[in-house]
Amino acid sequence: MANNIYIHIPFCRQKCYYCSFISYTDLNLIPDYVSSLCTEIKELYKQEKAQTIYFGGGTPSLLEIKQFKRIINSFNYNDFTEITVEINPETVNRKYLTDLFKLGVNRISIGCQTFDNNILKIIGRKHSSQQVKDCIKFAKEAGLKNISLDFIYGLPSQTMQKFAEDLHTALNLGIQHISLYGLKIDEGCYFCKQTPENIPDNDSQADMYLKAIEIMTQNNFNHYEISNFALEGFESRHNLNYWNNNTYYGFGVAAHGYIDGIRYSNETDLIQYINNPINNKEEHILSAQDKLEEEIFLGFRRMQGIDINLINSKYNIDFQTQYKSIIDKYLLSEHIIKTKNGYKLSDKGILVSNIILADFLQ
Ligand code: SF4
Repeated sequence: MANNIYIHIPFCRQKCYYCSFISYTDLNLIPDYVSSLCTEIKELYKQEKAQTIYFGGGTPSLLEIKQFKRIINSFNYNDFTEITVEINPETVNRKYLTDLFKLGVNRISIGCQTFDNNILKIIGRKHSSQQVKDCIKFAKEAGLKNISLDFIYGLPSQTMQKFAEDLHTALNLGIQHISLYGLKIDEGCYFCKQTPENIPDNDSQADMYLKAIEIMTQNNFNHYEISNFALEGFESRHNLNYWNNNTYYGFGVAAHGYIDGIRYSNETDLIQYINNPINNKEEHILSAQDKLEEEIFLGFRRMQGIDINLINSKYNIDFQTQYKSIIDKYLLSEHIIKTKNGYKLSDKGILVSNIILADFLQ
């Protein structure tokens, strides 16, 4: 049973230089892929009322409108369903966004990364800052009232001043949500072989992140998750469902889902998936300890932190006793803060959240 649905669209026109995700550039495969997606959905989806539907990628905006229509119509949804599509600005125009809105898409997440055209070139993005601005304008004219922008900080040649300008430009464009990620050069990306000059060091990245918290919160954006900021009422319901450790479907190649205590991942090879979209899932049945650790791990990603009473009743434990030494250590070092219901990360703690959260894992 799940009311939240993720659909993976793994195609991109070309590879951004910092990206290590698996994506495919043979766009001729899209029609077969959409057919296989619909087969998978028909077989596994139990017609639960969809609270959220999220098209992520890759570049979902490479799909034709009729392909979106076919997929969305497979689900039981209504006007209250949050339907999000990730958009690359160079792939859309006014008509496309209007048609998406008419289909029921009510939230878009635009891959902006920066408004600096030189940096966009350096990182291999194919759009200009003007195309992002046009995309927002067309989306608003189409009727979309829930627009998110993705940014990366710590980009080559990016200074604190340029990064702050990016955020102010976004705020002036009247968007409702921002996601921010620090540049990471993972194995498999072009930058891994050909590392550019002038990449800000870790300390500068941390300073940019803290600056972002300052700018966004001063402008009434709620810092509701480590990497996410939203005006009140515009938090991503789809992503909150993940962080609240609830169930969801994952459809498409390499998609992940979580249903009935089982985490599953789909076939990762595109052709194999197209040929057989139903079988070849890897399943992992979670133990009680796995579930507890995931609850803590995901809960600390939300800025409101974890709710101890909820965890105690859900997992039949005494959190304070079980994790006393870890809690005491990080309270003393001011990496976590006591809240009314439990604990949350401090700004200082967010910067080393991976280390702190690893301490809670057995
Ligand atoms: S960053 Fe996004 S658009 Fe660029 S290659 Fe990766 S998945 Fe595709």
